[in-house]
Amino acid sequence: METYGFLGLGIMGSAMAKNLIKAGFKVKVWNRSQAKCEEFAALGAAVAATPAEVTSSCAITIAMLADPAAAREVCFGPQGALEGIGAGRGYVDMSTVDAATAQEISTAVTAKGGRFLEAPVSGSKKPAEDGTLIILAAGDHGLFDKTMPLFEKMGKKSLFLGDVGRGAEMKLIVNMVMGGMMTIFCEGLALAEKAGLASADLLDVLDSGALANPMFKLKGAQMTQGMFDPAFPLKHMQKDMRLAVALGDALNQPLASAAAANESFKRAKGMGLADRDFCAVLKAITS
Ligand code: NAP
Repeated sequence: METYGFLGLGIMGSAMAKNLIKAGFKVKVWNRSQAKCEEFAALGAAVAATPAEVTSSCAITIAMLADPAAAREVCFGPQGALEGIGAGRGYVDMSTVDAATAQEISTAVTAKGGRFLEAPVSGSKKPAEDGTLIILAAGDHGLFDKTMPLFEKMGKKSLFLGDVGRGAEMKLIVNMVMGGMMTIFCEGLALAEKAGLASADLLDVLDSGALANPMFKLKGAQMTQGMFDPAFPLKHMQKDMRLAVALGDALNQPLASAAAANESFKRAKGMGLADRDFCAVLKAITS
């Protein structure tokens, strides 16, 4: 039976890896903070000491890491994933990064005879737990097909978008829209409060018409109760806004709303809210 590797057991990675284990796949995990591997050992997963140990012993290794710096460090660092990549071995990076990072990792992996697929995901902690993510893959089509049985346990829909970089771009655009929606939603809540309107009434009106959406419903209820436990850490949302604005720069596309939203997330980070949920941007908007 084939063993599959999993690097990065954060909020998303831990839920995704658990779904693979639950589905009966043999999984070997690694995480920078080794303590997070303990519960996986208890679930029957093998635990590796380095990323290279995973990639050198698995046909396909999935990575789910914080940002471009983490994705690069885990791939190119000492005893990193690249060291273990050999002919035919697959590396599937599901972290949200920029296209240039994905392309750099792809070039290095394929230069060693390996195969590369980027596959960032849309959907947060709950869809990761439920196995209902939307997977935005690009790169090696053969590896996409080979990884499909795993994707089917982690997501409800898997798209193949073409050359490496297209997945990253799609993901950044989706999150740019989400970040913009969140900041204007928070501004609406803040303005309603100053106007003396009940938040519950605003949420009810929004939910009753064309603006109804699952994010407003879920996050609106949490924000009005002051619940900011992280499902999607604010620091990652700001990273995505920053990378989307950079993509706009590169393509000479004005992104006035996204750039303004990015400033709100930056401000929230400066207020010490980096590790809270991204809806904690409300505090930057109301302060
Ligand atoms: P997270 O809980 O912060 O986990 C980040 C993971 O990256 C952890 O395993 C962490 O290791 C590792 N890491 C960070 N810096 C590292 C470094 N320099 N070297 C090695 N490992 C490093 O983040 P998450 O929410 O799971 O998100 C993971 C990725 O998915 C991000 O790119 C995020 O933008 C994206 N994403 C998140 C969501 C969401 O709702 N949460 C949704 C879609 C996409 P430690 O445990 O040692 O810190």
